[in-house]
Amino acid sequence: MQLLDGAAVSAQLKSQIKKETEELKAKTGKVPHLAAILVGNNPASEAYVASKVRTCEELGFGSTLLRFDTSITEQQLLDEIDNLNADDKIDGILVQLPLPEHISDDKVINKIDPTKDVDGFHPISLGKMLLGHKTFLPATPYGIMLMLEHYNIDVTGMHCVIIGRSNIVGTPMTILMSRNAKPGNATVTMCHSKTKNLKEITQTADIIIAAIGRPKYVTADMVKEGAIIIDVGINRIPDATKKSGSRLVGDVDFENVAPKASYITPVPGGVGLMTIGGLMKNTLEAAKQHI
Ligand code: NAP
Repeated sequence: MQLLDGAAVSAQLKSQIKKETEELKAKTGKVPHLAAILVGNNPASEAYVASKVRTCEELGFGSTLLRFDTSITEQQLLDEIDNLNADDKIDGILVQLPLPEHISDDKVINKIDPTKDVDGFHPISLGKMLLGHKTFLPATPYGIMLMLEHYNIDVTGMHCVIIGRSNIVGTPMTILMSRNAKPGNATVTMCHSKTKNLKEITQTADIIIAAIGRPKYVTADMVKEGAIIIDVGINRIPDATKKSGSRLVGDVDFENVAPKASYITPVPGGVGLMTIGGLMKNTLEAAKQHI
């Protein structure tokens, strides 16, 4: 079994992005700039945004963090996005989800200028992805593709089972894994909560991508010997041995699945770090396009 080491791969990716950022700055004076919007104080969202802002600093990007109370109205938030759209300094805009219930995710995402949609969630970005045109890929699927590329894992002809069909992970993953590209050309089965006989399907998978949001849901009996396992899940479970009283686990029962796998991503230290890498790569690309 080989660990797909998100820390090592993202460190290499970040050093490449940092180098290109320095070159861009020296040649054109342009500094990539990411604006992050955080509404409310959900602890997980706070942590994700903080780590994105920290990574911007590490790479030599500019960053702007706009924080709002949950009392902000939908219209006020849309106006804030308009301001960022109009600001030439800003190359990328990310809105940390989830938003409070009174604000429509769709309306907010649709408001982002597609040339600044570095999270790749805008319908134009997703439509271009579907058609195989150059665009900003959603950060998590992009990070997974970069990980497969890094380890030279050829998934051509493999049976890839994707569990989860969210717009941000599962659905784009099915498009990317099945497209005629490298990595790609897999035969994809998409599963979700209404799928019957999930275990029988996963047992035939050469590669499983789990994006469910249920701790340790994929167990060893669901996995074929030698399968590649990509665990997208981030779940917090109680753990009395930890100072915080909890720890993060993925959607895969890592301890028991790892011995059967050919490759596997750990949680933490796997896909999550690659997601930030994908986001930063998109932001650098946006900056280049804005010159
Ligand atoms: P989501 O929007 O809640 O989607 C979860 C998907 O899993 C849904 O399609 C759901 O099916 C399916 N599902 C739920 N229970 C199932 C079951 N028992 N059997 C089969 N499918 C089932 O979640 P998401 O945003 O895609 O995120 C998934 C996980 O990845 C979460 O733990 C999230 O925190 C994590 N995540 C991590 C990163 C990262 O950077 N590592 C990025 C994004 C998300 P239905 O559609 O039928 O409801």
